Amino acid sequence: MDFPILDTQVYGHQLVYLDNAATTQKPQQVIDALSSYYLTLNSNIHRGTHHLATLATERYEAVRQQVQQFIHAANTKEIVFTRGTTESINLVAATFGRQFIRKDDEVIVSGMEHHSNIVPWQLACEQVGARLRVIPFSDEGVLDMEVYQTLFNSHTRMVAVNHVSNTLGTVNPIQEIVRIAHSHQVPVLIDGAQAVAHMPVDVQELGCDFYCFSGHKMYAPMGVGVMYGREELLNQLPPYQGGGEMIKDVTFEKTTYNELPYKFEAGTPSVGDVLGLGAAIDYMQSQGMEVIAHHEAQLMDYAMQKLSSVPNIRFIGTAPGKVGVISFLLGNAHPYDVGTLLDKLGIAVRTGHHCTQPIMDRYGIPGTVRASFASYTTFADIDALYNALLRIAPMLD
Ligand code: PMP
Repeated sequence: MDFPILDTQVYGHQLVYLDNAATTQKPQQVIDALSSYYLTLNSNIHRGTHHLATLATERYEAVRQQVQQFIHAANTKEIVFTRGTTESINLVAATFGRQFIRKDDEVIVSGMEHHSNIVPWQLACEQVGARLRVIPFSDEGVLDMEVYQTLFNSHTRMVAVNHVSNTLGTVNPIQEIVRIAHSHQVPVLIDGAQAVAHMPVDVQELGCDFYCFSGHKMYAPMGVGVMYGREELLNQLPPYQGGGEMIKDVTFEKTTYNELPYKFEAGTPSVGDVLGLGAAIDYMQSQGMEVIAHHEAQLMDYAMQKLSSVPNIRFIGTAPGKVGVISFLLGNAHPYDVGTLLDKLGIAVRTGHHCTQPIMDRYGIPGTVRASFASYTTFADIDALYNALLRIAPMLD
């Protein structure tokens, strides 16, 4: 068993873990990488000349190379380690904002963004009197590309959209989004938090300028994430945080900054978690990203078909080719009540607005119940969810 925690019993039931969009469980290989780091390697990187510091630095930098290859970045200078997607987006919004966003400028986001791809841009805009423009989406959960094209003008400075929606499961047409933005000389940031664990990602093929993701949603420990940025753009941005490691020379009069990617990695990073991220990438690649994507696509077909026959179920997000998550409501029942009853049967789902309140407003609902998949999700897990829903539906009338 690669995932020991999946053996957990909940109220006398075998745990059925369907909250993978919030965080995935960790395979033994990742847990071992983490404990082995603290057992044998723990040391602060980059600044040490001693044996452990040298080894830890080599391993840390080797993971940077692994990430570069995993998302097909052009070189390792473009891979910045952060604490997660949220920090990655804040880094870009703050530094890009400081450098390029001025009064009356505009940032385009989509109506289906996670709060962490809305609020950092709002913060950047509020400081200078700029504003957000929003790409609307259809009832199925598909972005309106016609309207998108009309949102550009000479004040547009950035487009920020997610690759996969954490609430609707929609896979957005990133190449097309990028092509249109670039035709207006506007860069594009992609929030890849819900994509990287579910499909092969090639940032050069997508053509995006920034791509952000979290380790903990891709089998790695919490506390580590990645900000990919095109070298040419990263070179134009000021540092995010000041501190150790991001400098070349410091005097009280003036500081010069380190080269990429270190310019953006102030302070001691979460070294053990980065090594855990390396083990997680190894784990996914040993299965094959195409294989994972295929398995999850079959699960999605099976689940959508099966759950459709649950009385009074209403799906929120039915875009063709959707990935990873199924959001739904049962009759007029509050999502929280559904989630609580499922929990009593050992089924872990998430309920609420999933940090996407504008999506809830769009549908006029308080929240949804969300079941979300990982590579270890089985058809039996879907059956368990289905049977549980049939059992609780009459209780909610
Ligand atoms: N964007 C999306 C699409 C997400 O699903 C999440 C996590 N729910 C985030 C951003 C934020 O990720 P984190 O909390 O790991 O920074």
